[in-house]
Amino acid sequence: MMRALVLEKPGRPPVLAVKETPIPSPGPGEVLVEVEACGFCHHDLLVMAGVLRRGVKPGVILGHEISGTVVQPGEGVTTIATGDRVVSLLTNACGRCERCRSGREHRCIYGEGIGHGRDGGFAEYVALSEFSLVKLPEDVDLTGAALLACPMGVALQAVQNVAEVRPRETTVVTGAGGGLGVHGLQMAAALGSRVLAVTTSEDKLGRFASLGAEEILHTDELDFSEMILALTEDEGAEVVFDTVGSVLFSSSWRSLAQFGRLVLLGEVAGKAVELNLAEIIFRDARILGSSGVSRAVIEQVVDMVSQGQVAPVVGGAMPLEEAATAFDLLTGRSIFGRLVLTGR
Ligand SMILES: [Zn+2]
Ligand SMILES: [Zn+2]
Repeated sequence: MMRALVLEKPGRPPVLAVKETPIPSPGPGEVLVEVEACGFCHHDLLVMAGVLRRGVKPGVILGHEISGTVVQPGEGVTTIATGDRVVSLLTNACGRCERCRSGREHRCIYGEGIGHGRDGGFAEYVALSEFSLVKLPEDVDLTGAALLACPMGVALQAVQNVAEVRPRETTVVTGAGGGLGVHGLQMAAALGSRVLAVTTSEDKLGRFASLGAEEILHTDELDFSEMILALTEDEGAEVVFDTVGSVLFSSSWRSLAQFGRLVLLGEVAGKAVELNLAEIIFRDARILGSSGVSRAVIEQVVDMVSQGQVAPVVGGAMPLEEAATAFDLLTGRSIFGRLVLTGR
């Protein structure tokens, strides 16, 4: 038997309990992973709060940001062995379909969302397909490794593959102290971009120094675009990496330069926005959405962390029993980086 976090009743706050459940047995092509850490994502918070329901398996064990050690390979496993240290993809991918073979395994035709459509990592053990795991070198810390796919890979994919940030372009990062923001700003800086970080939380200010942002803009007001224009000689920023969504949209939009790319990663409020379409045309602008991360990009993050170009920012590690406290901390946006829950 193992301990697993169970969502007994969604809500604010949710009813959570740690229960003894059977250790999953790995099927053909799957391996059993002993969980070291599992990041507490905004996605998990939305499911716990009862806001996100679609596609969620009843009674599912949440958590898709999983690092750990392989303890038991199932039948027919060839690429992963006992003792391997691994980080999971976000989707349990088959490895054989046309999308998996063309580098889009995060959109696997047979894929199930880990910690969503199938059991995830808020437990002592998890069974996943061998294709859904990326091996880690010895020099990568196993707790921090939980963040290498989401949020770090998700951030790199958005900055590099979707927004196509180029060296010396200016990137604005909103919600810069959050899990996506703090890694998005590191990724943009690592790609040679000048980063302007926007945060509403004053107590996080001192913690940005070493992460590569040129300016930290602390603002309680929703409109930070005046500050961005002042810092860019009224040109605006080539890229806005937005993790907050509709409440900041008008300001994010006004911060954007000619030929600018606004990449959207998070929507906190779920509200409609107002936009004059002519402005997109005359600004030659692009508004882009980005979610998920491919295996190749996760492997790139592993290399970047191994070489010290970027680092996971773990805002705290708590046992499964303290998940309710973690929920409150996340709701209050008082975490810098990403909180992880530990299986042991
Ligand atoms: Zn996540
Ligand atoms: Zn597939």
